[in-house]
Amino acid sequence: MHINGNSYIVDYAMNTISMTENKSMITTVYKRCETSVMTEEKLRSEMIVIAHRMYNKELVAATGGNISYRLDKNRFLLTPTGRCKGDLTEDDLLVCDEEGKPLEEGVITSEASMHLEAYLRRPDINAIVHAHPPYTVALSMAGIPIEGNLLPEAIIAFGQVPTSNFAIPSTNEGAIVIRKLIDTHNALILDRHGAVTVGKSLRNAYYLMERLEYISKVIYLARCIGVPKPLTKDQIRRIQAVGAVKKET
Ligand SMILES: [Zn+2]
Repeated sequence: MHINGNSYIVDYAMNTISMTENKSMITTVYKRCETSVMTEEKLRSEMIVIAHRMYNKELVAATGGNISYRLDKNRFLLTPTGRCKGDLTEDDLLVCDEEGKPLEEGVITSEASMHLEAYLRRPDINAIVHAHPPYTVALSMAGIPIEGNLLPEAIIAFGQVPTSNFAIPSTNEGAIVIRKLIDTHNALILDRHGAVTVGKSLRNAYYLMERLEYISKVIYLARCIGVPKPLTKDQIRRIQAVGAVKKET
């Protein structure tokens, strides 16, 4: 419970909910924990900023996409199911445990199992963004890979972005197809569905998603007017040398 520093109050809340099943009571108990509320409030605000930006940037449409954050070992903050990311407020976000059981009243995202699988396999990450970025999905539908040798930005940010096997959205299949790929990649494409990006912070994960879609758009545009020319091996080597020192471009 490193996130809040008032673990006894949260532990009390956990015991309370297991004893009474009273979901509103745990909300009240959480509110007593000022350190927890302050920290979690900031995270909720940050997630809402990103949810709105994701919708406004058209990385998702309607009720698509979801975002999560690892509050501590056993608690995760997630977006709810069936809600437009452009309409969400801080109070709409929900906390669940490591098995996806909600600790607050509400229904968490239907793709929570994919998020929890990624957290299980990647103890180094705290945030996950899943979106349906149209250029990225279009390339996936057309069977065009996002090569890691076309743009300096792509080489520094993530190199080749792998595409998972097809999984039916909003099922546990998502958790299955990201296995192994997520072990070694911070960005991956879900075949004909969307993309998943991960990071130490919500901003890290979100910026990776925005960058992925930008790169997909540039590849799409380049293919509309010609054949994209890959960078030379020497250019890639020099870019990688710079990227090792400077992670942002
Ligand atoms: Zn999805």
